[in-house]
Amino acid sequence: CGRFGKPEDRLWQFEFVVARGEDGKEMSEHDNIKRIVFPYITHPGSRYGLKEDVAFPEDCITVLRCRPFAFAARNCNKWALGRVMLLGDAAHVFPPFGGQGIASGFRDASALAWWLAVACRPNFKPYEQLLEAWYNERKQQLDRSLNATVETVPSSPMIPSVRRWLEQGARRFGMTRYTYQPGMEFIPKGASGLFLPQIYCLPLIANNDLNKMAFTDDIIFHPSKKCIFQVLILLDKLDETKQAAAVFEDIDNPSDGELSAREATYLIHNLNERFVDPNPFTARIATAKEFAQSPLCKGRPEPRYYDEYHIKKEVKGYKYLIIRPDRLIYASCVDKVEVDSAAKALPGLLNGETHDI
Ligand SMILES: Cc1cc2nc3c(=O)[nH]c(=O)nc-3n(C[C@H](O)[C@H](O)[C@H](O)COP(=O)(O)OP(=O)(O)OC[C@H]3O[C@@H](n4cnc5c(N)ncnc54)[C@H](O)[C@@H]3O)c2cc1C
Repeated sequence: CGRFGKPEDRLWQFEFVVARGEDGKEMSEHDNIKRIVFPYITHPGSRYGLKEDVAFPEDCITVLRCRPFAFAARNCNKWALGRVMLLGDAAHVFPPFGGQGIASGFRDASALAWWLAVACRPNFKPYEQLLEAWYNERKQQLDRSLNATVETVPSSPMIPSVRRWLEQGARRFGMTRYTYQPGMEFIPKGASGLFLPQIYCLPLIANNDLNKMAFTDDIIFHPSKKCIFQVLILLDKLDETKQAAAVFEDIDNPSDGELSAREATYLIHNLNERFVDPNPFTARIATAKEFAQSPLCKGRPEPRYYDEYHIKKEVKGYKYLIIRPDRLIYASCVDKVEVDSAAKALPGLLNGETHDI
């Protein structure tokens, strides 16, 4: 059982198992709810100096709704037709024990948001292919979540190593990586198609002030930035920024303004970096300990199993990345030639003139 809604609304949700031989519809009738659920609605006796818990008065309990519910793992074949799109449970259902239902709905929505922004551009060509690419991508991620959920049966043994394995779900295989299909908007090469992990970082302008601790996503997609796609540059030391900046200095031209050198984020993989840099989008990676000591950790659990080198390890040496708003890597490049070529493909994609890369 669990509480939901505003505390003053005093709403609770209870679930119980319909045993073999019982009828789900009958079990959801009021008399059965009263018999099975009401005994759990109590006040602790200790609150009143009593040994036994105190039952809540039955006439103060209202059953708003009770329905039999069967576990299902299903996924529609099409999530978009014409102008109509299906998201969340309308497109797919999970058994609840993997805790993936709500998160998947949010992922559908956050992925769709930027595709819609692009489809609404004034000169955008037919958007059906775009929406098909959106749900073909989402389905790949969903299959991972579904597989992880189905194996996370509630009766699984809870020895710590097994629990950790289950807790990680699909993440134990690393970040989700899409397999390219025509229409998908990323360059199928290198680390592209991979979801960028998020780590903690300290903007160098903050002079190591932990009050300025940030998530990398908040720097990469800072609200002041205007471009839909963003440039991320991974460096070992701050003194490499000048050389890296030269790779992107004229990026506005080949990308026809879809990318901006001024908005590029520099992530320095040096925990001892002590220099202050005036660029607000230059940051160094931060440790779990630093995060735990920062105000950003307030109200959040201290990190476990955190790795400040996670981004670098996942992208396997690619230094120059172009990131989509849903954190998928559109292009991973090693030099200016690759960067310019990826940038040139962008205007056609974002205006719907080309769908295949
Ligand atoms: C018993 C149970 C336990 C769960 N536990 C978890 C959990 O622990 N963690 C987790 O992540 N997920 C859990 N889930 C799944 C989670 O609740 C769903 O994945 C999530 O609520 C789906 O959100 P949604 O917005 O897609 O759909 P919904 O939450 O179903 O929202 C759809 C809304 O549309 C409304 N609606 C329907 N038809 C119309 C219409 N014609 N006009 C206007 N409005 C309409 C509905 O009333 C509803 O409010 C659980 C689900 C169940 C049933």
